[in-house]
Amino acid sequence: MLNRRSFTKVAVAGAALSMAACAGGKMAKKDGKTVIVIGGGSAGATAAKYIKKADKSINVILIEKNKTYHTCFFSNNVIGGISDLESIEHSYDGLMKNHGIDVMHKMVSKVDAANKMVVLSNGDKLAYDKVVVAPGIDFKWDSIPGHSEAASKNDIPHAYIAGNQTQILRDQLVNMKNGGTVVMIPPTNPFRCPPGPYERASLIAHYLKKHKPKSKLIILDQKEKFSKFGLFKQGWKREYKNVIDWRAKSKGGQVKHIDTATKTIKTANGKTIKADVINLIPAQKAGKLAFDSGLTKGDWCPINFMTFESTLHKDVYVVGDAAIAKKMPKSGFSANSQAKILAIQLVKSLNGKKTMANTRFGNTCYSFINPDYAISVTAAYKGTDKQIAKTSGGLSPMGANATERKALAGTAREWYKGITSDMFM
Ligand SMILES: Cc1cc2nc3c(=O)[nH]c(=O)nc-3n(C[C@H](O)[C@H](O)[C@H](O)COP(=O)(O)OP(=O)(O)OC[C@H]3O[C@@H](n4cnc5c(N)ncnc54)[C@H](O)[C@@H]3O)c2cc1C
Repeated sequence: MLNRRSFTKVAVAGAALSMAACAGGKMAKKDGKTVIVIGGGSAGATAAKYIKKADKSINVILIEKNKTYHTCFFSNNVIGGISDLESIEHSYDGLMKNHGIDVMHKMVSKVDAANKMVVLSNGDKLAYDKVVVAPGIDFKWDSIPGHSEAASKNDIPHAYIAGNQTQILRDQLVNMKNGGTVVMIPPTNPFRCPPGPYERASLIAHYLKKHKPKSKLIILDQKEKFSKFGLFKQGWKREYKNVIDWRAKSKGGQVKHIDTATKTIKTANGKTIKADVINLIPAQKAGKLAFDSGLTKGDWCPINFMTFESTLHKDVYVVGDAAIAKKMPKSGFSANSQAKILAIQLVKSLNGKKTMANTRFGNTCYSFINPDYAISVTAAYKGTDKQIAKTSGGLSPMGANATERKALAGTAREWYKGITSDMFM
């Protein structure tokens, strides 16, 4: 039950834009039903757009803390000096102008599922009929002993949430001497974009080979193998034999301790490595909002695999990296594909209709070895009671020739244009 004070603080859902101007005021409720989407990334932006497309009468409010969004996909190209940060920056204007979505740039503290309210960090509350939670990931800062969130801010960037962090890593590489040592520490499974660290290694190596040829890149892996293993290893042998030194967990990769001040790493096999630049990508978990809203079990959010509704709270949906959407990898392509199915299911449920029993998803992850050399992994999926099951898929061929690898790089660039326009236009 709301008391008088909290009632006046409830900005009734559907009046988001006016609410932004007069926070704390009492608003008139717009006619119709209201869906609030939290997080304007691959999952949230797509969900907001496709919910509105499915039923224009629904008031769709997208709450995103940042004014613009930097895609993690293609951020490795920025780190490798192939493109700049602006090339991966997107605004929310298209969602507002083209689709009539109310976009609010606010921080959400939590979803109060019992009272069907979204609570903002300033204490204001918005009522919803259904809410979509798409906060992406957070980091386990203590996953490597000696590391900390504070150290990641400027000294040891993760660059695994794109934007400022991407630029910091890029600048460190540019400022490094020729002959320097870059160390990358990829995370344990599961994490966002399984091929992401290895594409990054490729494009850092591309930069070093071209501009700082006496330098090297050591990858201290916390795993024995990784996504597109054979294709990456083949590419590295061809292109970066004298640059990349990848060490599996059991073969010197396991990190025992990092001294972030001196950039000194001690490995489990007793070696000490002094680095000039370190890219440490910590182990991951669902975004903080998911934990603060009681939507997690372990590190991630359990969902109904057919609808994306949380199994812990009714009328709350979780999608994208934060959700347990096994067997789909945590990727922007997956998030976009999931969000479209979620939109159909949510709107059906909101309108009292039976949800679809047959759901299909897709994912392709392209990775660049260099700007003219791409590899890929593709899969199709089907929703079932127990999981989102893989139905088919495969890798780009090991035997592809230079023309085919270059053509795939072009396809990857076209994919980027397509998915970002699908998310934001
Ligand atoms: C280096 C790298 C390369 C990648 N390459 C690819 C690729 O080639 N292909 C591919 O498909 N995927 C790729 N990915 C993965 C892809 O970026 C993610 O899987 C995808 O962004 C997940 O989408 P999401 O919406 O779940 O999370 P995000 O895109 O991170 O969006 C979450 C949003 O929620 C907002 N938010 C969080 N908490 C709050 C709050 N409390 N209040 C308000 N707003 C909040 C955040 O600001 C953010 O905008 C890559 C990732 C990395 C790191």
